[in-house]
Amino acid sequence: MIDERRERLTKLHAVVDACRRCPIGGTRTKVVCGVGDPAARLVIVGEGPGESEDRQGEPFVGRAGELLTRMLAAIGLRREDVFITNTIKCRATSDESGRIANRAPMQEEMANCRQYLDEELAIVRPRIILALGAPAAKSFLGPGFSITRQRGMWFKGPGGADLMATYHPAYILRLTGGNMTAVKKLVWADLQAVRHKLDEVEQEQAPPITPQADAELKLDL
Ligand code: SF4
Repeated sequence: MIDERRERLTKLHAVVDACRRCPIGGTRTKVVCGVGDPAARLVIVGEGPGESEDRQGEPFVGRAGELLTRMLAAIGLRREDVFITNTIKCRATSDESGRIANRAPMQEEMANCRQYLDEELAIVRPRIILALGAPAAKSFLGPGFSITRQRGMWFKGPGGADLMATYHPAYILRLTGGNMTAVKKLVWADLQAVRHKLDEVEQEQAPPITPQADAELKLDL
């Protein structure tokens, strides 16, 4: 099953690699598709690739990516245990007097790329989706979603997955002092809720304990 999903993701990656639907398809260095466990129970969705991701062709590999790796480790997960992707697969940039800078994805770019995110989710079929930052959350929950008021709440996402949004690690890195501490606390609470939900899902899928196995367990005690 995992091999079949991996193969489908590889085929999708090849299609995305050839995509030039938006002008940023012509300015990117590398297309950045989702990576990780093709049968992950948890999918992380960010906004879009930044400079490091564009160079390496992998999501969340810059400073924000390092923070995401630490966030996952804090709830006992490695990057390879989850599937990590973005709402758009090319780096959105603007030319500011010759200096290439990141910018937020345009609505049109998100709409153009949506089909690839939907296909990734249809292949991986996660039970939980964690959207990082307001743009990713709004892409699932609509423009009325407020990250300050509604982060940490559970919603229904694609394929019936439980979906939560929290702050993007890049946002946390832009904060300083008490603001950073306060936002980190909120994110920590959200991550713990995700861990709890993941434990529930894993328990549901664990094989039932047979009377004999139960007896062996008691003997071990
Ligand atoms: S952002 Fe998505 S839809 Fe637009 S060119 Fe890149 S891969 Fe294609």
